[in-house]
Amino acid sequence: MPIVLKRPVEVERMAEAGARLTEVMDLVAEAVRPGVSALELDRIAREAIEARGARPAFLGLYGFPATICASPNEVVVHGIPSERPLEEGEILSVDMGLFYDGYAADMARTFPVGEVSDEAERLIRVTEESFWAGFDAAQPGARLGDVSAAIQKRVEDAGFWVVREFVGHGIGREMHEDPQVPNFGRPGLGPKLRPGMTLAIEPMVTLFAAPVVVLDDGWTASSGRGNLAAHYENTVAISESGPRLLTGRR
Ligand code: MG
Repeated sequence: MPIVLKRPVEVERMAEAGARLTEVMDLVAEAVRPGVSALELDRIAREAIEARGARPAFLGLYGFPATICASPNEVVVHGIPSERPLEEGEILSVDMGLFYDGYAADMARTFPVGEVSDEAERLIRVTEESFWAGFDAAQPGARLGDVSAAIQKRVEDAGFWVVREFVGHGIGREMHEDPQVPNFGRPGLGPKLRPGMTLAIEPMVTLFAAPVVVLDDGWTASSGRGNLAAHYENTVAISESGPRLLTGRR
């Protein structure tokens, strides 16, 4: 499919969707603590999305059963929220999307549950930093491979591993549009970035190299025992003057 360029009025509508999603993520972040369950976080997210006149984008998408993907510890993405209380020292990746006024926004964060290990903290921080490296490379006239390579470099310079099995994506009227946005690649390759492109840039990073395996529930994507995973995602628009954040804040 061709890459759909959005008119300025459409980008503004996506920014409205993104602002709502950012508020909801803030509420989820405040609720993460030892003893809370991912299912409780899911309820908080769904109510907050609906209270803002939006609708959860993941619920029912390809048959997914919840509003948030809640991926603890070595789960990279697509974890199904459960009733199990989170424990001190765990990490939890929360990925969610919504539709507002016909447009999608998509966002993910990894949260420490209470005090976590230095290694877990560093994994979370480097994953966020790799997003910003990709964001800064997302200039009009650059190539998509410049974004991918910048992310990969930050991750590998820190000694961590870029997940290959899942990638970012275009976003707009649909949650998943072209192009795919890998978190690894070569500078100077791929489609040229143009004003009006809207992308979900979402590095997924693990402690060490290992294949990501989907468990028997058909969703949970795990990087294997002891291999913590982190995720950081924002929806981004390419504008004439550079990349513009549609979710989150710097
Ligand atoms: Mg996404």
